[in-house]
Amino acid sequence: MLFYKECEICGTRINKFQNWWNIYMLKSGIKLKCQNCRTEYKTSKLISIIGSFYSFLAWIIPIILLVSFIDSFKLNLGIEVWFYAFILYSLIELIVMVFLPLFKIEKTKKVLN
Ligand SMILES: [Zn+2]
Repeated sequence: MLFYKECEICGTRINKFQNWWNIYMLKSGIKLKCQNCRTEYKTSKLISIIGSFYSFLAWIIPIILLVSFIDSFKLNLGIEVWFYAFILYSLIELIVMVFLPLFKIEKTKKVLN
């Protein structure tokens, strides 16, 4: 299932909705942790760099675009248009999250003296 990431170590299904903000933040490099074996997963470095920039600074752009898109139907929604734009925006973010590639984080080995 797309809402789960199967743990590569123990096969446990890890719920991508461990935190609701994963919908928006998973692409910025937030870790997903296997409850069973504690293995952690996150997206690639390149995606997380772009994702963090987007999540912190650029997210307003698609919301504004969606507002003008919904407004183009001349529904006269008034302030509610922002609410619908946000719902639509979250749906798009959800789809992005579901297809986001996740990779196992290699534990850094302890350096022996
Ligand atoms: Zn596991």
